[in-house]
Amino acid sequence: MKYLSRLFQPVITIPKGAKIKNTEITCKSQKLLLECGLIRPTSAGFFTILPLARRGLDKLEQLLHSNLQKVHAQRISLPCLTSAKLWEKTGRLESIGSELFTMEDRHEKKFLLAPTHEEAIADLMVDIGPVSYKQLPLLLYQITNKYRDELRPKHGLLRAREFQMMDLYGIHNDVKCAEGTYSKVTQVYKDFFRELDLPVHQVVAPSGDMGGTLSHEWQLPASAGEDSLAICPSCSHTQLDSKACVQCGKEMTILQSIEVGHTFILGTKYSEPLQAKCVQPDSKPTPLVMSCYGIGITRLLAASLEALSSETSLRWPKSIAPFSAIVIGPKEGSTEWSKHGADGIEAVAHALDEVLPDDVIVDDRHNLTIGKRLLTADRMGYPYILVCGRNSVVKHHQDTNFTQTDGENRY
Ligand SMILES: [Zn+2]
Repeated sequence: MKYLSRLFQPVITIPKGAKIKNTEITCKSQKLLLECGLIRPTSAGFFTILPLARRGLDKLEQLLHSNLQKVHAQRISLPCLTSAKLWEKTGRLESIGSELFTMEDRHEKKFLLAPTHEEAIADLMVDIGPVSYKQLPLLLYQITNKYRDELRPKHGLLRAREFQMMDLYGIHNDVKCAEGTYSKVTQVYKDFFRELDLPVHQVVAPSGDMGGTLSHEWQLPASAGEDSLAICPSCSHTQLDSKACVQCGKEMTILQSIEVGHTFILGTKYSEPLQAKCVQPDSKPTPLVMSCYGIGITRLLAASLEALSSETSLRWPKSIAPFSAIVIGPKEGSTEWSKHGADGIEAVAHALDEVLPDDVIVDDRHNLTIGKRLLTADRMGYPYILVCGRNSVVKHHQDTNFTQTDGENRY
């Protein structure tokens, strides 16, 4: 059982009516994550992820792992450091060099803290290659920290210099194979976002620095977003550009949105310069065709809070709330306390823990009133709040009303 009194959660208490002058706080997810003790900044664009946010991220990862099994993706871990030589060969050391953290080892070999791993994956294929067409398609993914030396890191976890990302790479012998895999993976993306109950839109995107032939961005509407999404109210066609609707000519609704994922068919942009080849049925070696798929895990967590929370209270997609339920007992010394006692509350919490294993926390600050602890629980956005007062009451956040399990709602 987890207890709130033992939770490492350095909350920032702001006195009522105090005016806060913190110009670095620019959006509500950043403000709430910081004030509620879920993250701490270390330097610009770098954050320590504290236990509650870590739990949310772990749940997000688990949901991704289970969805990626549907396409038989296999998890690997590549080193965070990639040889700068590989990036020199693909031309990216020059094209996005200013956004890279680079370093030298004691032998003066140059490395970079990778923001993405297309070069490293292509090099892995060279190392084991040439790959036979019979082994393809191959899908390899990792969930690791990535690095980008943003000119202006801002909005907390939404634009950080270190971020957690799921990056999946598809290895194919031809474009047809890549296209088949692409449609299967995009279906996995749709399932994943549906399980989170988030209205994420798939929109055609320019390929940018990544190169390649086909690409989509996955956008979640939210007010702190730096992109804008144009949605046709009539045919629901959605695009990044706000120009007139190509589908039916109606005026588009414009929404600010946050990019939470990106998918690409890369073609041979990386395999050609790095000489990553496969052997075709006619025994001829040709450059591998690659596809890649990313979901920013830390960004998605912050983006979903941005989309769902109020200015003062966190709201999570139910499946990734750090704890699904919190148990609040009566104040020590009250009539209710003499009725339930610490043992009674413990019994309730254990019964709940059997239904929601390792997903229940007890607010054991029994010196505080129920009302005060309810306010904290509401601000934290636990999906279910169980109060053991005079009567047992379950508050369910996503609903506006209290659901009572027993008698009247009084505390
Ligand atoms: Zn339309």
